[in-house]
Amino acid sequence: MDFAIPPEIRDLCANLRRFMEEHVYPLERGEPWRMEVGGAAYPRAIRAVQERAKALGYWAFHLPAEAGGAGLPFMHYVHVNEILGRSPYGPACVGSQAPDSGNAEILWRFGSAEQKERWLRPLVDGKTRSCFSMTEPEVAGSDPRWLRTTAVRDGDHYVVNGHKWFSSGAHGAAFAIVMARTGPEDADPHRRFSMIIVPTDTPGFIIERGIPVMGDDDNHHAEVRYEDCRVPAANVLGGEGRGFAIAQERLGPGRIHHCMRWIGVAERAFEQMCRYATEREVFGSTLSARANIQDWIAEARADIHAFRLMTLHAAWRIDSEGQQAAREEISLIKFFGARVLYGVVDKAIQVHGAAGVSEDLPLSMFYRQARLARIYDGPDEVHKMVVARRVLAPYESARLTRTGG
Ligand SMILES: Cc1cc2nc3c(=O)[nH]c(=O)nc-3n(C[C@H](O)[C@H](O)[C@H](O)COP(=O)(O)OP(=O)(O)OC[C@H]3O[C@@H](n4cnc5c(N)ncnc54)[C@H](O)[C@@H]3O)c2cc1C
Repeated sequence: MDFAIPPEIRDLCANLRRFMEEHVYPLERGEPWRMEVGGAAYPRAIRAVQERAKALGYWAFHLPAEAGGAGLPFMHYVHVNEILGRSPYGPACVGSQAPDSGNAEILWRFGSAEQKERWLRPLVDGKTRSCFSMTEPEVAGSDPRWLRTTAVRDGDHYVVNGHKWFSSGAHGAAFAIVMARTGPEDADPHRRFSMIIVPTDTPGFIIERGIPVMGDDDNHHAEVRYEDCRVPAANVLGGEGRGFAIAQERLGPGRIHHCMRWIGVAERAFEQMCRYATEREVFGSTLSARANIQDWIAEARADIHAFRLMTLHAAWRIDSEGQQAAREEISLIKFFGARVLYGVVDKAIQVHGAAGVSEDLPLSMFYRQARLARIYDGPDEVHKMVVARRVLAPYESARLTRTGG
């Protein structure tokens, strides 16, 4: 396993860093992300940067070349996505933002030829956006076996009924990929759900509200009702009963993509902290001369370094053995990385004093991002449970062998 930036992408990384400086960071000072129901897929400011990105070939880095992407292996994507993640606008500017990136991946892997033509192609081109509609207010998202939304077969159609929330990006999305129960209630929980494409202009697709969420002025995490939404049976993704299997395939890469981007956020907060610590004078010396600030800087450096190496390791495992083999590594970096991000941004804010919590700097935006990171795509506790169960399994079986249980 080689930790260096691979020679094939060194120029790309250098150019992308410049691209971020020139075109993406300036977006943070405007209001580029105002979305409207039924409006254009992207706001004008983002579209302008996307056009430049496409012209330079910086597009859909997460997808294979045959699907219209850059076809990067995970090990390469770690480096590229870290750079893009340095701004919350980076991924959207190159057509790789969540939840579209995950939706595009599952459409590519599990979609029929017709689904790819109708839904995937415009999504990859950046002409449409989408949302992923799984979590429900009434049941724990951490344990999706008990989701209540149903899709009942009626001739050549399914009729979808249910209540979802945190369907990020539903405003302005062309379609939702909905996790719905298609099997009987007593069926194997892992086989009773399906993923169904519901176009957002289907009668009965109702956005009740954008949920006000910290750090999201546009309330783009939507609460959605599905009221007798009739969609063609051909809109089932990958076959009936495969919802859980596809969700696993979607969430694994999605989580590592988040981690790659969080390294970028943490690195940018770290740089900001070091810059300020060497400039600001208190009690006759710069902050950087103080032992406690040095301690924070050293701790933050070590944390980011460990996080990056762990992410590279998970990527290497996915590239060499597939994402199922890397489940433990992915869960490790999901909670570890979220904690590192949170800790580094918190320290950077403290070093800046009042300036740190002002909206003049990106740190407060990063802080809110870091807090959300500990919940979405599985809260910390669920990933710790996954890791602990795997770690403990051989001890449990050894105990059973010993005790004859
Ligand atoms: C910013 C953001 C964007 C999101 N985007 C989407 C999206 O696009 N589509 C979508 O479908 N969902 C989305 N979600 C929802 C997200 O996936 C869920 O919030 C998450 O899965 C947790 O589910 P929950 O909120 O129902 O919490 P619950 O499952 O009710 O858990 C509540 C708390 O219980 C604790 N807990 C849970 N399980 C355990 C355990 N085994 N042991 C100990 N403690 C435990 C944790 O501390 C957890 O935070 C988003 C959420 C956020 C915050």
